[in-house]
Amino acid sequence: MTPGRWMAGLLLAGLVLLAVLPPNVGCFPPCPVHTTTGLYCSGCGSLRAIRSLLSGDVLQAWHYNPILLCCIPIILVGVLSEVVHTKRLSLTRIRPFLLWVWLSVILAFGVLRNIPAFDYLQPTALSAKTIHAGALTWPR
Ligand SMILES: [Zn+2]
Repeated sequence: MTPGRWMAGLLLAGLVLLAVLPPNVGCFPPCPVHTTTGLYCSGCGSLRAIRSLLSGDVLQAWHYNPILLCCIPIILVGVLSEVVHTKRLSLTRIRPFLLWVWLSVILAFGVLRNIPAFDYLQPTALSAKTIHAGALTWPR
């Protein structure tokens, strides 16, 4: 079995595991960056966002990690384009310039979500009460 198939299998197994986990957020491992520094990294809320997406709750996924939701379509289009045109997937074909732009955006997101003026970028669990009240607020 090729390393690519192993990676695809692990990714699929992880998605299945996330899909069957209970929806409570306490079952996810804590982020080591947030645990040690108290700061939110770019990936904070990603597992909860994926779990929300797998259960069909796109709005909640957006509030857990909006950059993840922005990246998923870009990654899917890139992977599908690569597979359709070359019949294989090679990560070495990614243009370095685009990779640097992407990494810069992700790093900037990680910095912004720790600035008080941008605290709405921090992982936030929406309660059913705030959604149905019609006035969407940012619960803490
Ligand atoms: Zn984190």
